[in-house]
Amino acid sequence: MQYKSIAVDGPSGAGKSTMAKRLAAALGYLYVDTGAIYRTLGLYALRSGAAPTDPSAVTALLPQVSIRMDYADDGLQHMYLGDEDVTEAIRKPEVSVAASQVSAIPAVRDFLLDMQRDMARRNNVIMDGRDIGTVVLPNADVKIFLTATPEDRARRRLAELLERGNEVDFDTVLADIIARDERDTKRSAAPLRQAEDALLVDTTGNSLEESFDALLRTIRERLE
Ligand code: C5P
Repeated sequence: MQYKSIAVDGPSGAGKSTMAKRLAAALGYLYVDTGAIYRTLGLYALRSGAAPTDPSAVTALLPQVSIRMDYADDGLQHMYLGDEDVTEAIRKPEVSVAASQVSAIPAVRDFLLDMQRDMARRNNVIMDGRDIGTVVLPNADVKIFLTATPEDRARRRLAELLERGNEVDFDTVLADIIARDERDTKRSAAPLRQAEDALLVDTTGNSLEESFDALLRTIRERLE
Protein backbone atom coordinates (compact mmCIF):
# COMPACT_ATOMS: atom_id res chain seq x y z
CA MET A 1 0.00 0.00 0.00
CA GLN A 2 1.17 3.48 -0.85
CA TYR A 3 0.80 5.67 2.22
CA LYS A 4 0.00 9.38 2.07
CA SER A 5 2.03 12.05 3.77
CA ILE A 6 1.44 15.65 4.70
CA ALA A 7 4.38 17.89 5.64
CA VAL A 8 3.87 20.83 7.99
CA ASP A 9 6.86 23.14 8.42
CA GLY A 10 7.30 26.54 9.98
CA PRO A 11 9.00 28.45 12.78
CA SER A 12 8.59 27.80 16.52
CA GLY A 13 5.24 28.64 18.01
CA ALA A 14 3.34 29.01 14.72
CA GLY A 15 0.80 26.45 15.94
CA LYS A 16 2.13 23.56 13.85
CA SER A 17 1.59 20.88 16.45
CA THR A 18 -1.91 22.00 17.45
CA MET A 19 -2.91 22.26 13.82
CA ALA A 20 -1.22 19.03 12.73
CA LYS A 21 -2.74 17.07 15.64
CA ARG A 22 -6.24 18.24 14.76
CA LEU A 23 -5.73 17.60 11.05
CA ALA A 24 -4.42 14.12 11.84
CA ALA A 25 -7.50 13.36 13.94
CA ALA A 26 -9.84 14.62 11.19
CA LEU A 27 -8.06 12.64 8.46
CA GLY A 28 -7.30 9.51 10.51
CA TYR A 29 -3.55 9.97 9.97
CA LEU A 30 -0.71 9.44 12.42
CA TYR A 31 0.68 12.69 13.81
CA VAL A 32 4.49 12.71 13.96
CA ASP A 33 6.16 15.53 15.91
CA THR A 34 9.77 15.52 14.67
CA GLY A 35 10.83 18.35 17.00
CA ALA A 36 10.31 15.88 19.86
CA ILE A 37 13.09 13.70 18.40
CA TYR A 38 15.57 16.60 18.36
CA ARG A 39 14.42 17.56 21.85
CA THR A 40 15.13 14.05 23.12
CA LEU A 41 18.66 14.23 21.78
CA GLY A 42 19.03 17.76 23.23
CA LEU A 43 17.98 16.42 26.64
CA TYR A 44 20.47 13.57 26.34
CA ALA A 45 23.28 16.02 25.52
CA LEU A 46 22.42 18.16 28.56
CA ARG A 47 22.30 15.14 30.85
CA SER A 48 25.56 13.78 29.47
CA GLY A 49 27.36 17.07 30.08
CA ALA A 50 28.05 17.56 26.35
CA ALA A 51 27.69 21.16 25.19
CA PRO A 52 24.80 21.07 22.66
CA THR A 53 26.72 23.61 20.57
CA ASP A 54 29.82 21.38 20.31
CA PRO A 55 29.55 19.24 17.15
CA SER A 56 32.25 16.76 18.12
CA ALA A 57 30.93 16.25 21.68
CA VAL A 58 27.37 15.73 20.40
CA THR A 59 28.43 13.52 17.49
CA ALA A 60 30.35 11.30 19.94
CA LEU A 61 27.07 10.63 21.78
CA LEU A 62 25.23 9.31 18.73
CA PRO A 63 26.48 5.69 18.74
CA GLN A 64 25.35 5.21 22.34
CA VAL A 65 22.04 7.07 22.46
CA SER A 66 18.78 5.12 22.35
CA ILE A 67 15.87 7.27 21.16
CA ARG A 68 12.52 5.67 20.50
CA MET A 69 9.11 6.98 19.53
CA ASP A 70 5.95 5.12 20.43
CA TYR A 71 2.24 5.71 20.45
CA ALA A 72 0.24 5.22 23.63
CA ASP A 73 -3.30 3.80 23.65
CA ASP A 74 -4.61 7.37 23.56
CA GLY A 75 -2.84 7.82 20.22
CA LEU A 76 -0.36 10.33 21.67
CA GLN A 77 3.29 10.25 20.67
CA HIS A 78 5.65 9.39 23.52
CA MET A 79 9.43 9.77 23.42
CA TYR A 80 11.79 7.39 25.17
CA LEU A 81 15.40 7.83 26.10
CA GLY A 82 16.45 4.26 26.79
CA ASP A 83 13.54 2.96 28.89
CA GLU A 84 12.60 6.34 30.34
CA ASP A 85 9.51 8.15 29.05
CA VAL A 86 10.79 11.72 28.53
CA THR A 87 7.65 13.08 26.84
CA GLU A 88 7.19 15.76 29.54
CA ALA A 89 10.87 16.37 30.33
CA ILE A 90 11.64 17.44 26.75
CA ARG A 91 9.19 20.39 26.97
CA LYS A 92 11.35 22.41 29.37
CA PRO A 93 12.62 25.74 27.96
CA GLU A 94 16.29 24.73 28.36
CA VAL A 95 15.63 21.61 26.29
CA SER A 96 14.07 23.76 23.51
CA VAL A 97 17.33 25.67 23.26
CA ALA A 98 19.46 22.50 23.35
CA ALA A 99 17.26 20.90 20.66
CA SER A 100 17.72 23.87 18.38
CA GLN A 101 21.49 23.76 18.98
CA VAL A 102 22.00 20.03 18.36
CA SER A 103 19.72 20.19 15.31
CA ALA A 104 22.18 22.50 13.54
CA ILE A 105 24.80 19.70 13.50
CA PRO A 106 24.70 17.87 10.11
CA ALA A 107 25.66 14.47 11.64
CA VAL A 108 22.67 14.75 13.99
CA ARG A 109 20.29 15.44 11.12
CA ASP A 110 21.62 12.46 9.14
CA PHE A 111 21.37 10.23 12.18
CA LEU A 112 17.70 11.11 12.82
CA LEU A 113 16.54 11.13 9.19
CA ASP A 114 15.75 7.45 8.87
CA MET A 115 13.60 7.31 11.99
CA GLN A 116 11.40 10.02 10.48
CA ARG A 117 11.21 8.52 6.98
CA ASP A 118 10.43 5.12 8.41
CA MET A 119 7.26 6.47 10.04
CA ALA A 120 6.07 7.70 6.64
CA ARG A 121 6.92 4.39 4.96
CA ARG A 122 4.62 2.53 7.33
CA ASN A 123 1.71 4.94 7.97
CA ASN A 124 -0.38 7.74 6.57
CA VAL A 125 1.32 10.61 8.35
CA ILE A 126 1.06 14.27 9.03
CA MET A 127 4.55 15.24 10.13
CA ASP A 128 5.61 18.59 11.52
CA GLY A 129 9.08 20.08 11.77
CA ARG A 130 11.38 22.47 9.92
CA ASP A 131 12.62 20.48 6.91
CA ILE A 132 9.87 17.94 6.30
CA GLY A 133 8.73 19.29 2.92
CA THR A 134 12.27 20.12 1.80
CA VAL A 135 14.41 17.21 3.07
CA VAL A 136 12.62 14.47 5.02
CA LEU A 137 9.62 13.95 2.72
CA PRO A 138 10.30 15.92 -0.48
CA ASN A 139 7.56 13.90 -2.22
CA ALA A 140 4.89 14.56 0.41
CA ASP A 141 1.38 14.65 -1.06
CA VAL A 142 0.61 18.01 0.57
CA LYS A 143 3.05 20.55 2.00
CA ILE A 144 2.08 23.35 4.33
CA PHE A 145 4.22 26.19 5.64
CA LEU A 146 2.60 27.60 8.76
CA THR A 147 3.80 30.92 10.11
CA ALA A 148 2.87 34.01 12.15
CA THR A 149 4.72 37.07 13.47
CA PRO A 150 7.28 36.44 16.27
CA GLU A 151 5.05 38.35 18.73
CA ASP A 152 2.00 36.22 17.93
CA ARG A 153 4.05 33.07 18.25
CA ALA A 154 5.57 34.22 21.55
CA ARG A 155 2.08 34.86 22.95
CA ARG A 156 1.02 31.30 22.04
CA ARG A 157 4.21 29.74 23.38
CA LEU A 158 3.93 31.73 26.64
CA ALA A 159 0.38 30.44 27.20
CA GLU A 160 1.56 26.86 26.59
CA LEU A 161 4.53 27.17 28.95
CA LEU A 162 2.46 28.77 31.72
CA GLU A 163 -0.12 26.02 31.38
CA ARG A 164 2.66 23.48 31.88
CA GLY A 165 3.67 25.26 35.09
CA ASN A 166 6.86 26.94 33.79
CA GLU A 167 7.69 30.34 35.25
CA VAL A 168 8.47 32.51 32.23
CA ASP A 169 7.64 35.98 30.98
CA PHE A 170 6.72 37.31 27.53
CA ASP A 171 10.05 39.07 26.80
CA THR A 172 12.07 35.94 27.57
CA VAL A 173 9.85 33.78 25.37
CA LEU A 174 10.00 36.32 22.52
CA ALA A 175 13.80 36.53 22.75
CA ASP A 176 14.00 32.72 22.69
CA ILE A 177 11.73 32.54 19.62
CA ILE A 178 13.82 35.13 17.77
CA ALA A 179 17.07 33.32 18.65
CA ARG A 180 15.66 29.98 17.51
CA ASP A 181 14.36 31.51 14.25
CA GLU A 182 17.81 32.88 13.61
CA ARG A 183 19.51 29.52 14.23
CA ASP A 184 16.89 27.48 12.36
CA THR A 185 16.91 29.65 9.24
CA LYS A 186 20.62 30.45 9.06
CA ARG A 187 22.12 27.00 9.67
CA SER A 188 23.71 25.34 6.66
CA ALA A 189 22.21 21.87 7.30
CA ALA A 190 18.55 21.71 6.24
CA PRO A 191 17.65 25.29 7.20
CA LEU A 192 14.04 26.22 7.81
CA ARG A 193 12.56 27.44 4.54
CA GLN A 194 9.29 27.15 2.68
CA ALA A 195 9.33 24.41 0.03
CA GLU A 196 8.47 25.80 -3.41
CA ASP A 197 5.35 23.67 -3.62
CA ALA A 198 4.18 24.38 -0.06
CA LEU A 199 0.97 26.17 0.75
CA LEU A 200 1.70 29.27 2.88
CA VAL A 201 -0.64 29.69 5.85
CA ASP A 202 -0.13 32.81 7.98
CA THR A 203 -2.11 32.59 11.22
CA THR A 204 -1.19 36.09 12.50
CA GLY A 205 -4.25 37.58 14.17
CA ASN A 206 -6.33 34.48 13.47
CA SER A 207 -7.17 31.80 15.92
CA LEU A 208 -5.98 28.39 14.75
CA GLU A 209 -9.66 27.46 14.76
CA GLU A 210 -10.30 29.94 11.95
CA SER A 211 -7.46 28.59 9.82
CA PHE A 212 -8.27 24.93 10.51
CA ASP A 213 -11.48 24.51 8.48
CA ALA A 214 -10.06 26.16 5.37
CA LEU A 215 -6.88 24.15 5.61
CA LEU A 216 -8.70 20.84 6.05
CA ARG A 217 -10.80 21.58 2.95
CA THR A 218 -7.70 22.41 0.90
CA ILE A 219 -5.89 19.28 2.06
CA ARG A 220 -8.84 17.06 1.17
CA GLU A 221 -8.94 18.59 -2.32
CA ARG A 222 -5.22 18.05 -2.81
CA LEU A 223 -5.33 14.47 -1.55
CA GLU A 224 -7.99 13.52 -4.09
O1 C5P B 1 9.24 21.89 16.89
P1 C5P B 1 10.03 22.08 18.16
O2 C5P B 1 10.06 23.49 18.64
O3 C5P B 1 9.64 21.11 19.22
O4 C5P B 1 11.54 21.69 17.76
C1 C5P B 1 12.63 21.88 18.62
C2 C5P B 1 13.85 22.29 17.79
O5 C5P B 1 14.24 21.18 16.97
C3 C5P B 1 13.60 23.45 16.83
O6 C5P B 1 13.93 24.71 17.37
C4 C5P B 1 14.49 23.13 15.64
O7 C5P B 1 15.74 23.72 15.81
C5 C5P B 1 14.70 21.64 15.71
N1 C5P B 1 13.99 20.92 14.64
C6 C5P B 1 14.62 20.77 13.43
N2 C5P B 1 14.05 20.05 12.43
C7 C5P B 1 12.86 19.48 12.61
C8 C5P B 1 12.16 19.64 13.83
C9 C5P B 1 12.76 20.39 14.85
O8 C5P B 1 15.71 21.28 13.24
N3 C5P B 1 12.32 18.77 11.61
